[in-house]
Amino acid sequence: MTMHNKTIAEISRDLTAGEYSSAEITQELLARIKAQDSTYNSFITVSDEQAIAQANAADACRAAGNASPWTGVPMAHKDIFCTNGVLTTCGSKMLSNFVAPYDATIVDNFNQAGAVSLGKLNMDEFAMGSSNESSFYGPVKNPWDTERVPGGSSGGSAAAVAARLVPGATASDTGGSIRQPAAFCRLTGLKPTYGRVSRYGMIAYASSLDQAGTITRNAEDSAMMLNVMAGFDAKDSTSVQRDVPDYTASLNDSIEGMTIGLPKEYFSDALSADMQQQVRNAIAEYEKMGAKVKEISLPNSHLAIPAYYVIAPSECSANLSRMDGVRFGYRCEDPKDIEDLYKRSRGEGFGNEVKRRIMIGAYALSAGFYDAYYKKAQQVRRLIKNDFVSAFNDVDIIMSPVTPTPAFKFGENANDPVAMYLEDIFTIALNLAGLPGMSVPCGQVNGLPVGLQLIGNYFDEARLLNAGHQFQQVTDWHLKAPNGIA
Ligand code: GLN
Repeated sequence: MTMHNKTIAEISRDLTAGEYSSAEITQELLARIKAQDSTYNSFITVSDEQAIAQANAADACRAAGNASPWTGVPMAHKDIFCTNGVLTTCGSKMLSNFVAPYDATIVDNFNQAGAVSLGKLNMDEFAMGSSNESSFYGPVKNPWDTERVPGGSSGGSAAAVAARLVPGATASDTGGSIRQPAAFCRLTGLKPTYGRVSRYGMIAYASSLDQAGTITRNAEDSAMMLNVMAGFDAKDSTSVQRDVPDYTASLNDSIEGMTIGLPKEYFSDALSADMQQQVRNAIAEYEKMGAKVKEISLPNSHLAIPAYYVIAPSECSANLSRMDGVRFGYRCEDPKDIEDLYKRSRGEGFGNEVKRRIMIGAYALSAGFYDAYYKKAQQVRRLIKNDFVSAFNDVDIIMSPVTPTPAFKFGENANDPVAMYLEDIFTIALNLAGLPGMSVPCGQVNGLPVGLQLIGNYFDEARLLNAGHQFQQVTDWHLKAPNGIA
């Protein structure tokens, strides 16, 4: 039986019905990763032994009648999440020898729920990037076209799910790193509201923007993952104390009467006619289902990328100061003295994009420039948030493209950091505002996947999942598999 093309929900049902065991599907996926991942490079670490042990334990648990929906279901984690006893690199040489001594809260949540972790997924170094070209472990290939990037920074999560090596993966999103790779690989990506999912044990890039989320094949699976991940965590001071609904319960609600806002700034001439058409076709599907459309304005949209590229580097320069070659991680050979140890460990351990951002951030935070850059960027951030708050007075959900283009080729943006930064033009404002966003496959341009972005009000993940699921009941974009992958 081929099990690799099953979704999380299907596996959960099959395990309950006894169609196959967790050990069987786990073995099949591990064998598939071994045979095929040299093409994609989506895994940094495959945890064979641990996965088989978890699968056997899950099968025993089911036999004893104590199963949760996740008992025995395989998945994998982005390598930004600490996993006790398992290499946790964050895509960097700096952490290439770091075996985490504890589990991130969400890793623990999946373990407690009985899930089977197949390993750790490749990513841009410290989650900085939009193409997965900045990983110390080499680029990840897009299963839809291996000459193209899978997006980033969660490129490994997206490629592994698209190649049917794993049915779902955790990921993180600071400026678009879940939604953009999901769009490039024809997957469903969910970035929850800031504070909805614990950041404890997720290696910090820009703490006020980072949020853990999911990459899956469809909205139903995202809801199943969010059910495990969401909730208050006393170990994360920014996690929010608020009830967690059952996100699968409202998937089938009607969207009749839902008001969709279309930000005019997101449908400008900057977006090619082809991309616009795909997104507009998707919105027409919603109108057929009874939704109403309204044009809205987010007047400060053009300030999102500049504000982000002050705030994110500033926070990263502070967060990454803990990588000093002393306490953990990479240390240079034969340091002359303590200064040499710091300089060479950091100089040799970090890649170019990370260094560029640390330098920008240290500059923006320095005494003479703090007010002009960091403080100003924080003020702009508030304006961007206010735009969304007032838009949500009139609409239930906002829709837009996810990316300005489909997946680009390796090298195309690699020597032009600003071109690379513009990749996130439609996704980054949500992180500045702390809002939830989702990417849903909605069409294609030149045979390459295109995503529709659903933007929700604070803590309205259930509405996003409902809207995504309803769209997936009337369209089949999410059902297509890359060539040669059935
Ligand atoms: N591409 C953006 C950056 O490079 C966003 C990355 C992310 O969301 N982690 O910072």
